[in-house]
Amino acid sequence: MLPLADRLRATVREVPDFPKPGILFKDITPVLGQAALFREATEAMAAPWRGAGVTHVVAIESRGFLFGAPIAQALGAGLVPVRKPGKLPARTVREDYALEYGTDALEMHADALASGHRVLIVDDVLATGGTAGAASALVRRTGASVAGLSVFIDLLFLGGPTRLPAIKVSSALTYG
Ligand code: AMP
Repeated sequence: MLPLADRLRATVREVPDFPKPGILFKDITPVLGQAALFREATEAMAAPWRGAGVTHVVAIESRGFLFGAPIAQALGAGLVPVRKPGKLPARTVREDYALEYGTDALEMHADALASGHRVLIVDDVLATGGTAGAASALVRRTGASVAGLSVFIDLLFLGGPTRLPAIKVSSALTYG
């Protein structure tokens, strides 16, 4: 059998010009649809963090939820959703961050984490690192520490990890 990364690369679907011109979108849904491959992918995303003392997984809306939940279960950690503004019902902390054009924001429940918690941030794709950087800022504002970032795909050519210098990054699949 081919190595996992090769099988994942062959299964991820690349959709040009989605959601806007010039973006080559990595569509992970074909991976989610294959039971054994999805399980292997989440296991590969969890494996580097076994024994790292992770108490909580912070999963970023929305595709980060799909990987974050099984990874939290695999690591025996709690799950904390980080969402787009206005989605979480109780008191939140908010972090604004720059996009290529304009700004966006993420929110997390203010009481979801506390000092002494050790957090693994999970998302589907690491591109420029803006989203993951905002999530890590939210985590640190609660007093919790960031153990690292686990992404399904790291688009290395966009330099995400170099913009997150204080964060250890793992990925199941890299491009560039
Ligand atoms: P960034 O903040 O630039 O690291 O972008 C990361 C976020 O944008 C992730 O939550 C991804 O879901 C999404 N994203 C960025 N680029 C792509 C891409 N080429 N294909 C799929 N999703 C992407």
